[in-house]
Amino acid sequence: MIKIKKVLVTDYISRTKIPDSDYAINPYIGCPHKCMYCYAEFMKQFTNHNEHWGDFLDVKVCPKPFNIKKLIGKSVIIGTVTDAYNRYEQKYQITRKVLESLIGVNTEISILTKSDLVIRDIDLFKKMINIEITFSINTLDDIFRKDIEPFTSKVIERIEALKILNKNGIKTSVFLSPMFPGITDFKLILKSLKGYCQSFWFENLKLYPQCASRVLKYIHAKFPHLKNLYYDIYIAKNTDYWDYKEKEIVSFCQEKKIDYMIYFYLYKTKKNTLTKNTEKPIQLSFY
Ligand code: SF4
Repeated sequence: MIKIKKVLVTDYISRTKIPDSDYAINPYIGCPHKCMYCYAEFMKQFTNHNEHWGDFLDVKVCPKPFNIKKLIGKSVIIGTVTDAYNRYEQKYQITRKVLESLIGVNTEISILTKSDLVIRDIDLFKKMINIEITFSINTLDDIFRKDIEPFTSKVIERIEALKILNKNGIKTSVFLSPMFPGITDFKLILKSLKGYCQSFWFENLKLYPQCASRVLKYIHAKFPHLKNLYYDIYIAKNTDYWDYKEKEIVSFCQEKKIDYMIYFYLYKTKKNTLTKNTEKPIQLSFY
């Protein structure tokens, strides 16, 4: 059972280190999507939550108009440590209220989501100066999706929503994130969705301390033939797989004339170029 409470805030906007973005807006604390690999679980330590990730949701309520002036001429990404279109947004409508405040503001808005609820706000998107909706889709197999992202929209629902947005003239992109080694078939996804978005972004699976064991245990149980590959990447720290995958993506996208962005080595990545991973190593085990 999810624990929901309202928290008063004075602002929704914070600085972010996410590449290509100046600011982030997260209308909620916590995320009911409960993805197995979630990178945002670290938020618990900053918000005094002892519950499991996905079992709490703080609904941010900002009674006064928040300061949107700092966004002018900048870029803002909505949904970096939560999904702004999680299922409770239907009731609380915080994301919708935030978007209403951004109408007519000259800022580059990007929304990241795994939910088809986003199409509810097409009327608002049409009034925005510069907005892009990005769907995370790392598989077309809904059985795998349900294992790793149990409470998100189904793959087919996301694809339908993508098509609707595209048909309505809203700029869209697909984020293959996170790409699971040996499982995410990027070529199949690109071939299937090429006609419905303007670009594809790529991010590799990173195993953060909070989620590493559960992901590796899952791989061991469901994909035993991939155990050695995951050992090589996440325990032996061999980067060959991703170096090869990067080349494959670049070559495929260039051949098919597809716009792409690769975020394999977050925070050090520039468009279409890569630098080495500087993340701290963590101790991992399959057991
Ligand atoms: S949608 Fe994002 S923030 Fe929410 S649980 Fe999944 S990975 Fe975490």
